[in-house]
Amino acid sequence: MEAMGAQAMRRHNVALVMELVARDAPVSRVELARRTGLTKATVSSLVAELTAAELVRDLGPEPGHAPGRPAGRLVLDPYGPVALGLQFAAGHIAGVILDLSGRPVARQLRRFDVAGAAPGDGVRAARPVLRRLFDEATTAGRLVAGVGVAVGGTVSGGVASALPLNWRDVDVRALVAGELRALDLHGLDVLVSGEVACAALAEYQAGAARDWWYLGGEEVIGLAPLNPAASLPGELGHVPVRRRGEPCACGGRGCLELYAGRAAMAAAAGVPDDGGSRLLGAEEPVAARARTGDPAALRAVERAAEALAGALVPVRALLAPDTIVLGGRLVAYGAEFRNRVVERLAPGVTLRPTKLGPDAALRGAAGSVIARVIADPLAWIEG
Ligand SMILES: [Zn+2]
Repeated sequence: MEAMGAQAMRRHNVALVMELVARDAPVSRVELARRTGLTKATVSSLVAELTAAELVRDLGPEPGHAPGRPAGRLVLDPYGPVALGLQFAAGHIAGVILDLSGRPVARQLRRFDVAGAAPGDGVRAARPVLRRLFDEATTAGRLVAGVGVAVGGTVSGGVASALPLNWRDVDVRALVAGELRALDLHGLDVLVSGEVACAALAEYQAGAARDWWYLGGEEVIGLAPLNPAASLPGELGHVPVRRRGEPCACGGRGCLELYAGRAAMAAAAGVPDDGGSRLLGAEEPVAARARTGDPAALRAVERAAEALAGALVPVRALLAPDTIVLGGRLVAYGAEFRNRVVERLAPGVTLRPTKLGPDAALRGAAGSVIARVIADPLAWIEG
């Protein structure tokens, strides 16, 4: 019993040190001891364990630091294990490798009509993307800590339902694991999450505050907490904003997607929507038209802002968010759009634009693997 208690304590303390390095890097051992309440000797031994596993790296004393008492600056090891992110979108499959600090090491992008293919075929189309990314990791001598997958829809237990992909109850985790086995890659964790939850995680890992919320998405409209320990299983895009509104593909009526979704806005503005994603360089179709002052485009944007504010009213009442980060395709509508939403919503709610680009969900997919290593470094070290 006592031995198990000590082991559990060690697991907890290693994770604590790892999390503080991730959050506060670069950080010294002295600061870690102060923040954890552990002795400096304990911190040094935990750090030694993490550096030996190439999870944490000591950059050495700060340049110009007085000699004699090297402070040591600890960061997540950029040369340690890497995380692979994969994203299935209606018209493409994207992949990325991130180092532990979140820096992209390699990228792959394949145009593929995922929405028009059977789910098994859509996932199989990711095989060359996975193969190239693993080849790059192997060539660079890097271990892959796991595969994170982003899907534009709702995900539970690795099973996804995604209207933009025409996927319903698709066991994405099992299908991706099958692709990995086909590439002779075994024993890798596959973590599947919704596109918006992934983008929210990327935002958090890029430094946004834990008590903020993330609103946006490329293929869907969603709301997700930035706190990686929390989640919101529903989809904001299918919150009804109009009574007796048009029927929606989800089976509901008057959903937010019917007024603020890309296809809906394009139709309202009379602008063709080629369905191209921003990750492939396509522009949000109505944004350019609205900037020229086109009345139909401006009305479509106005209607979208009104619908979004309408969907956020119950959210405000329930969650009382202070700051919401607006990401995804709706960012293309600029400050004026955000102001319109806030005006209708309530004073005191801040809607700030994301700092990340259209690859936020992809980064967050890989980020979910990094988050898991940070939460339990011993599982990685001992696994
Ligand atoms: Zn709906």
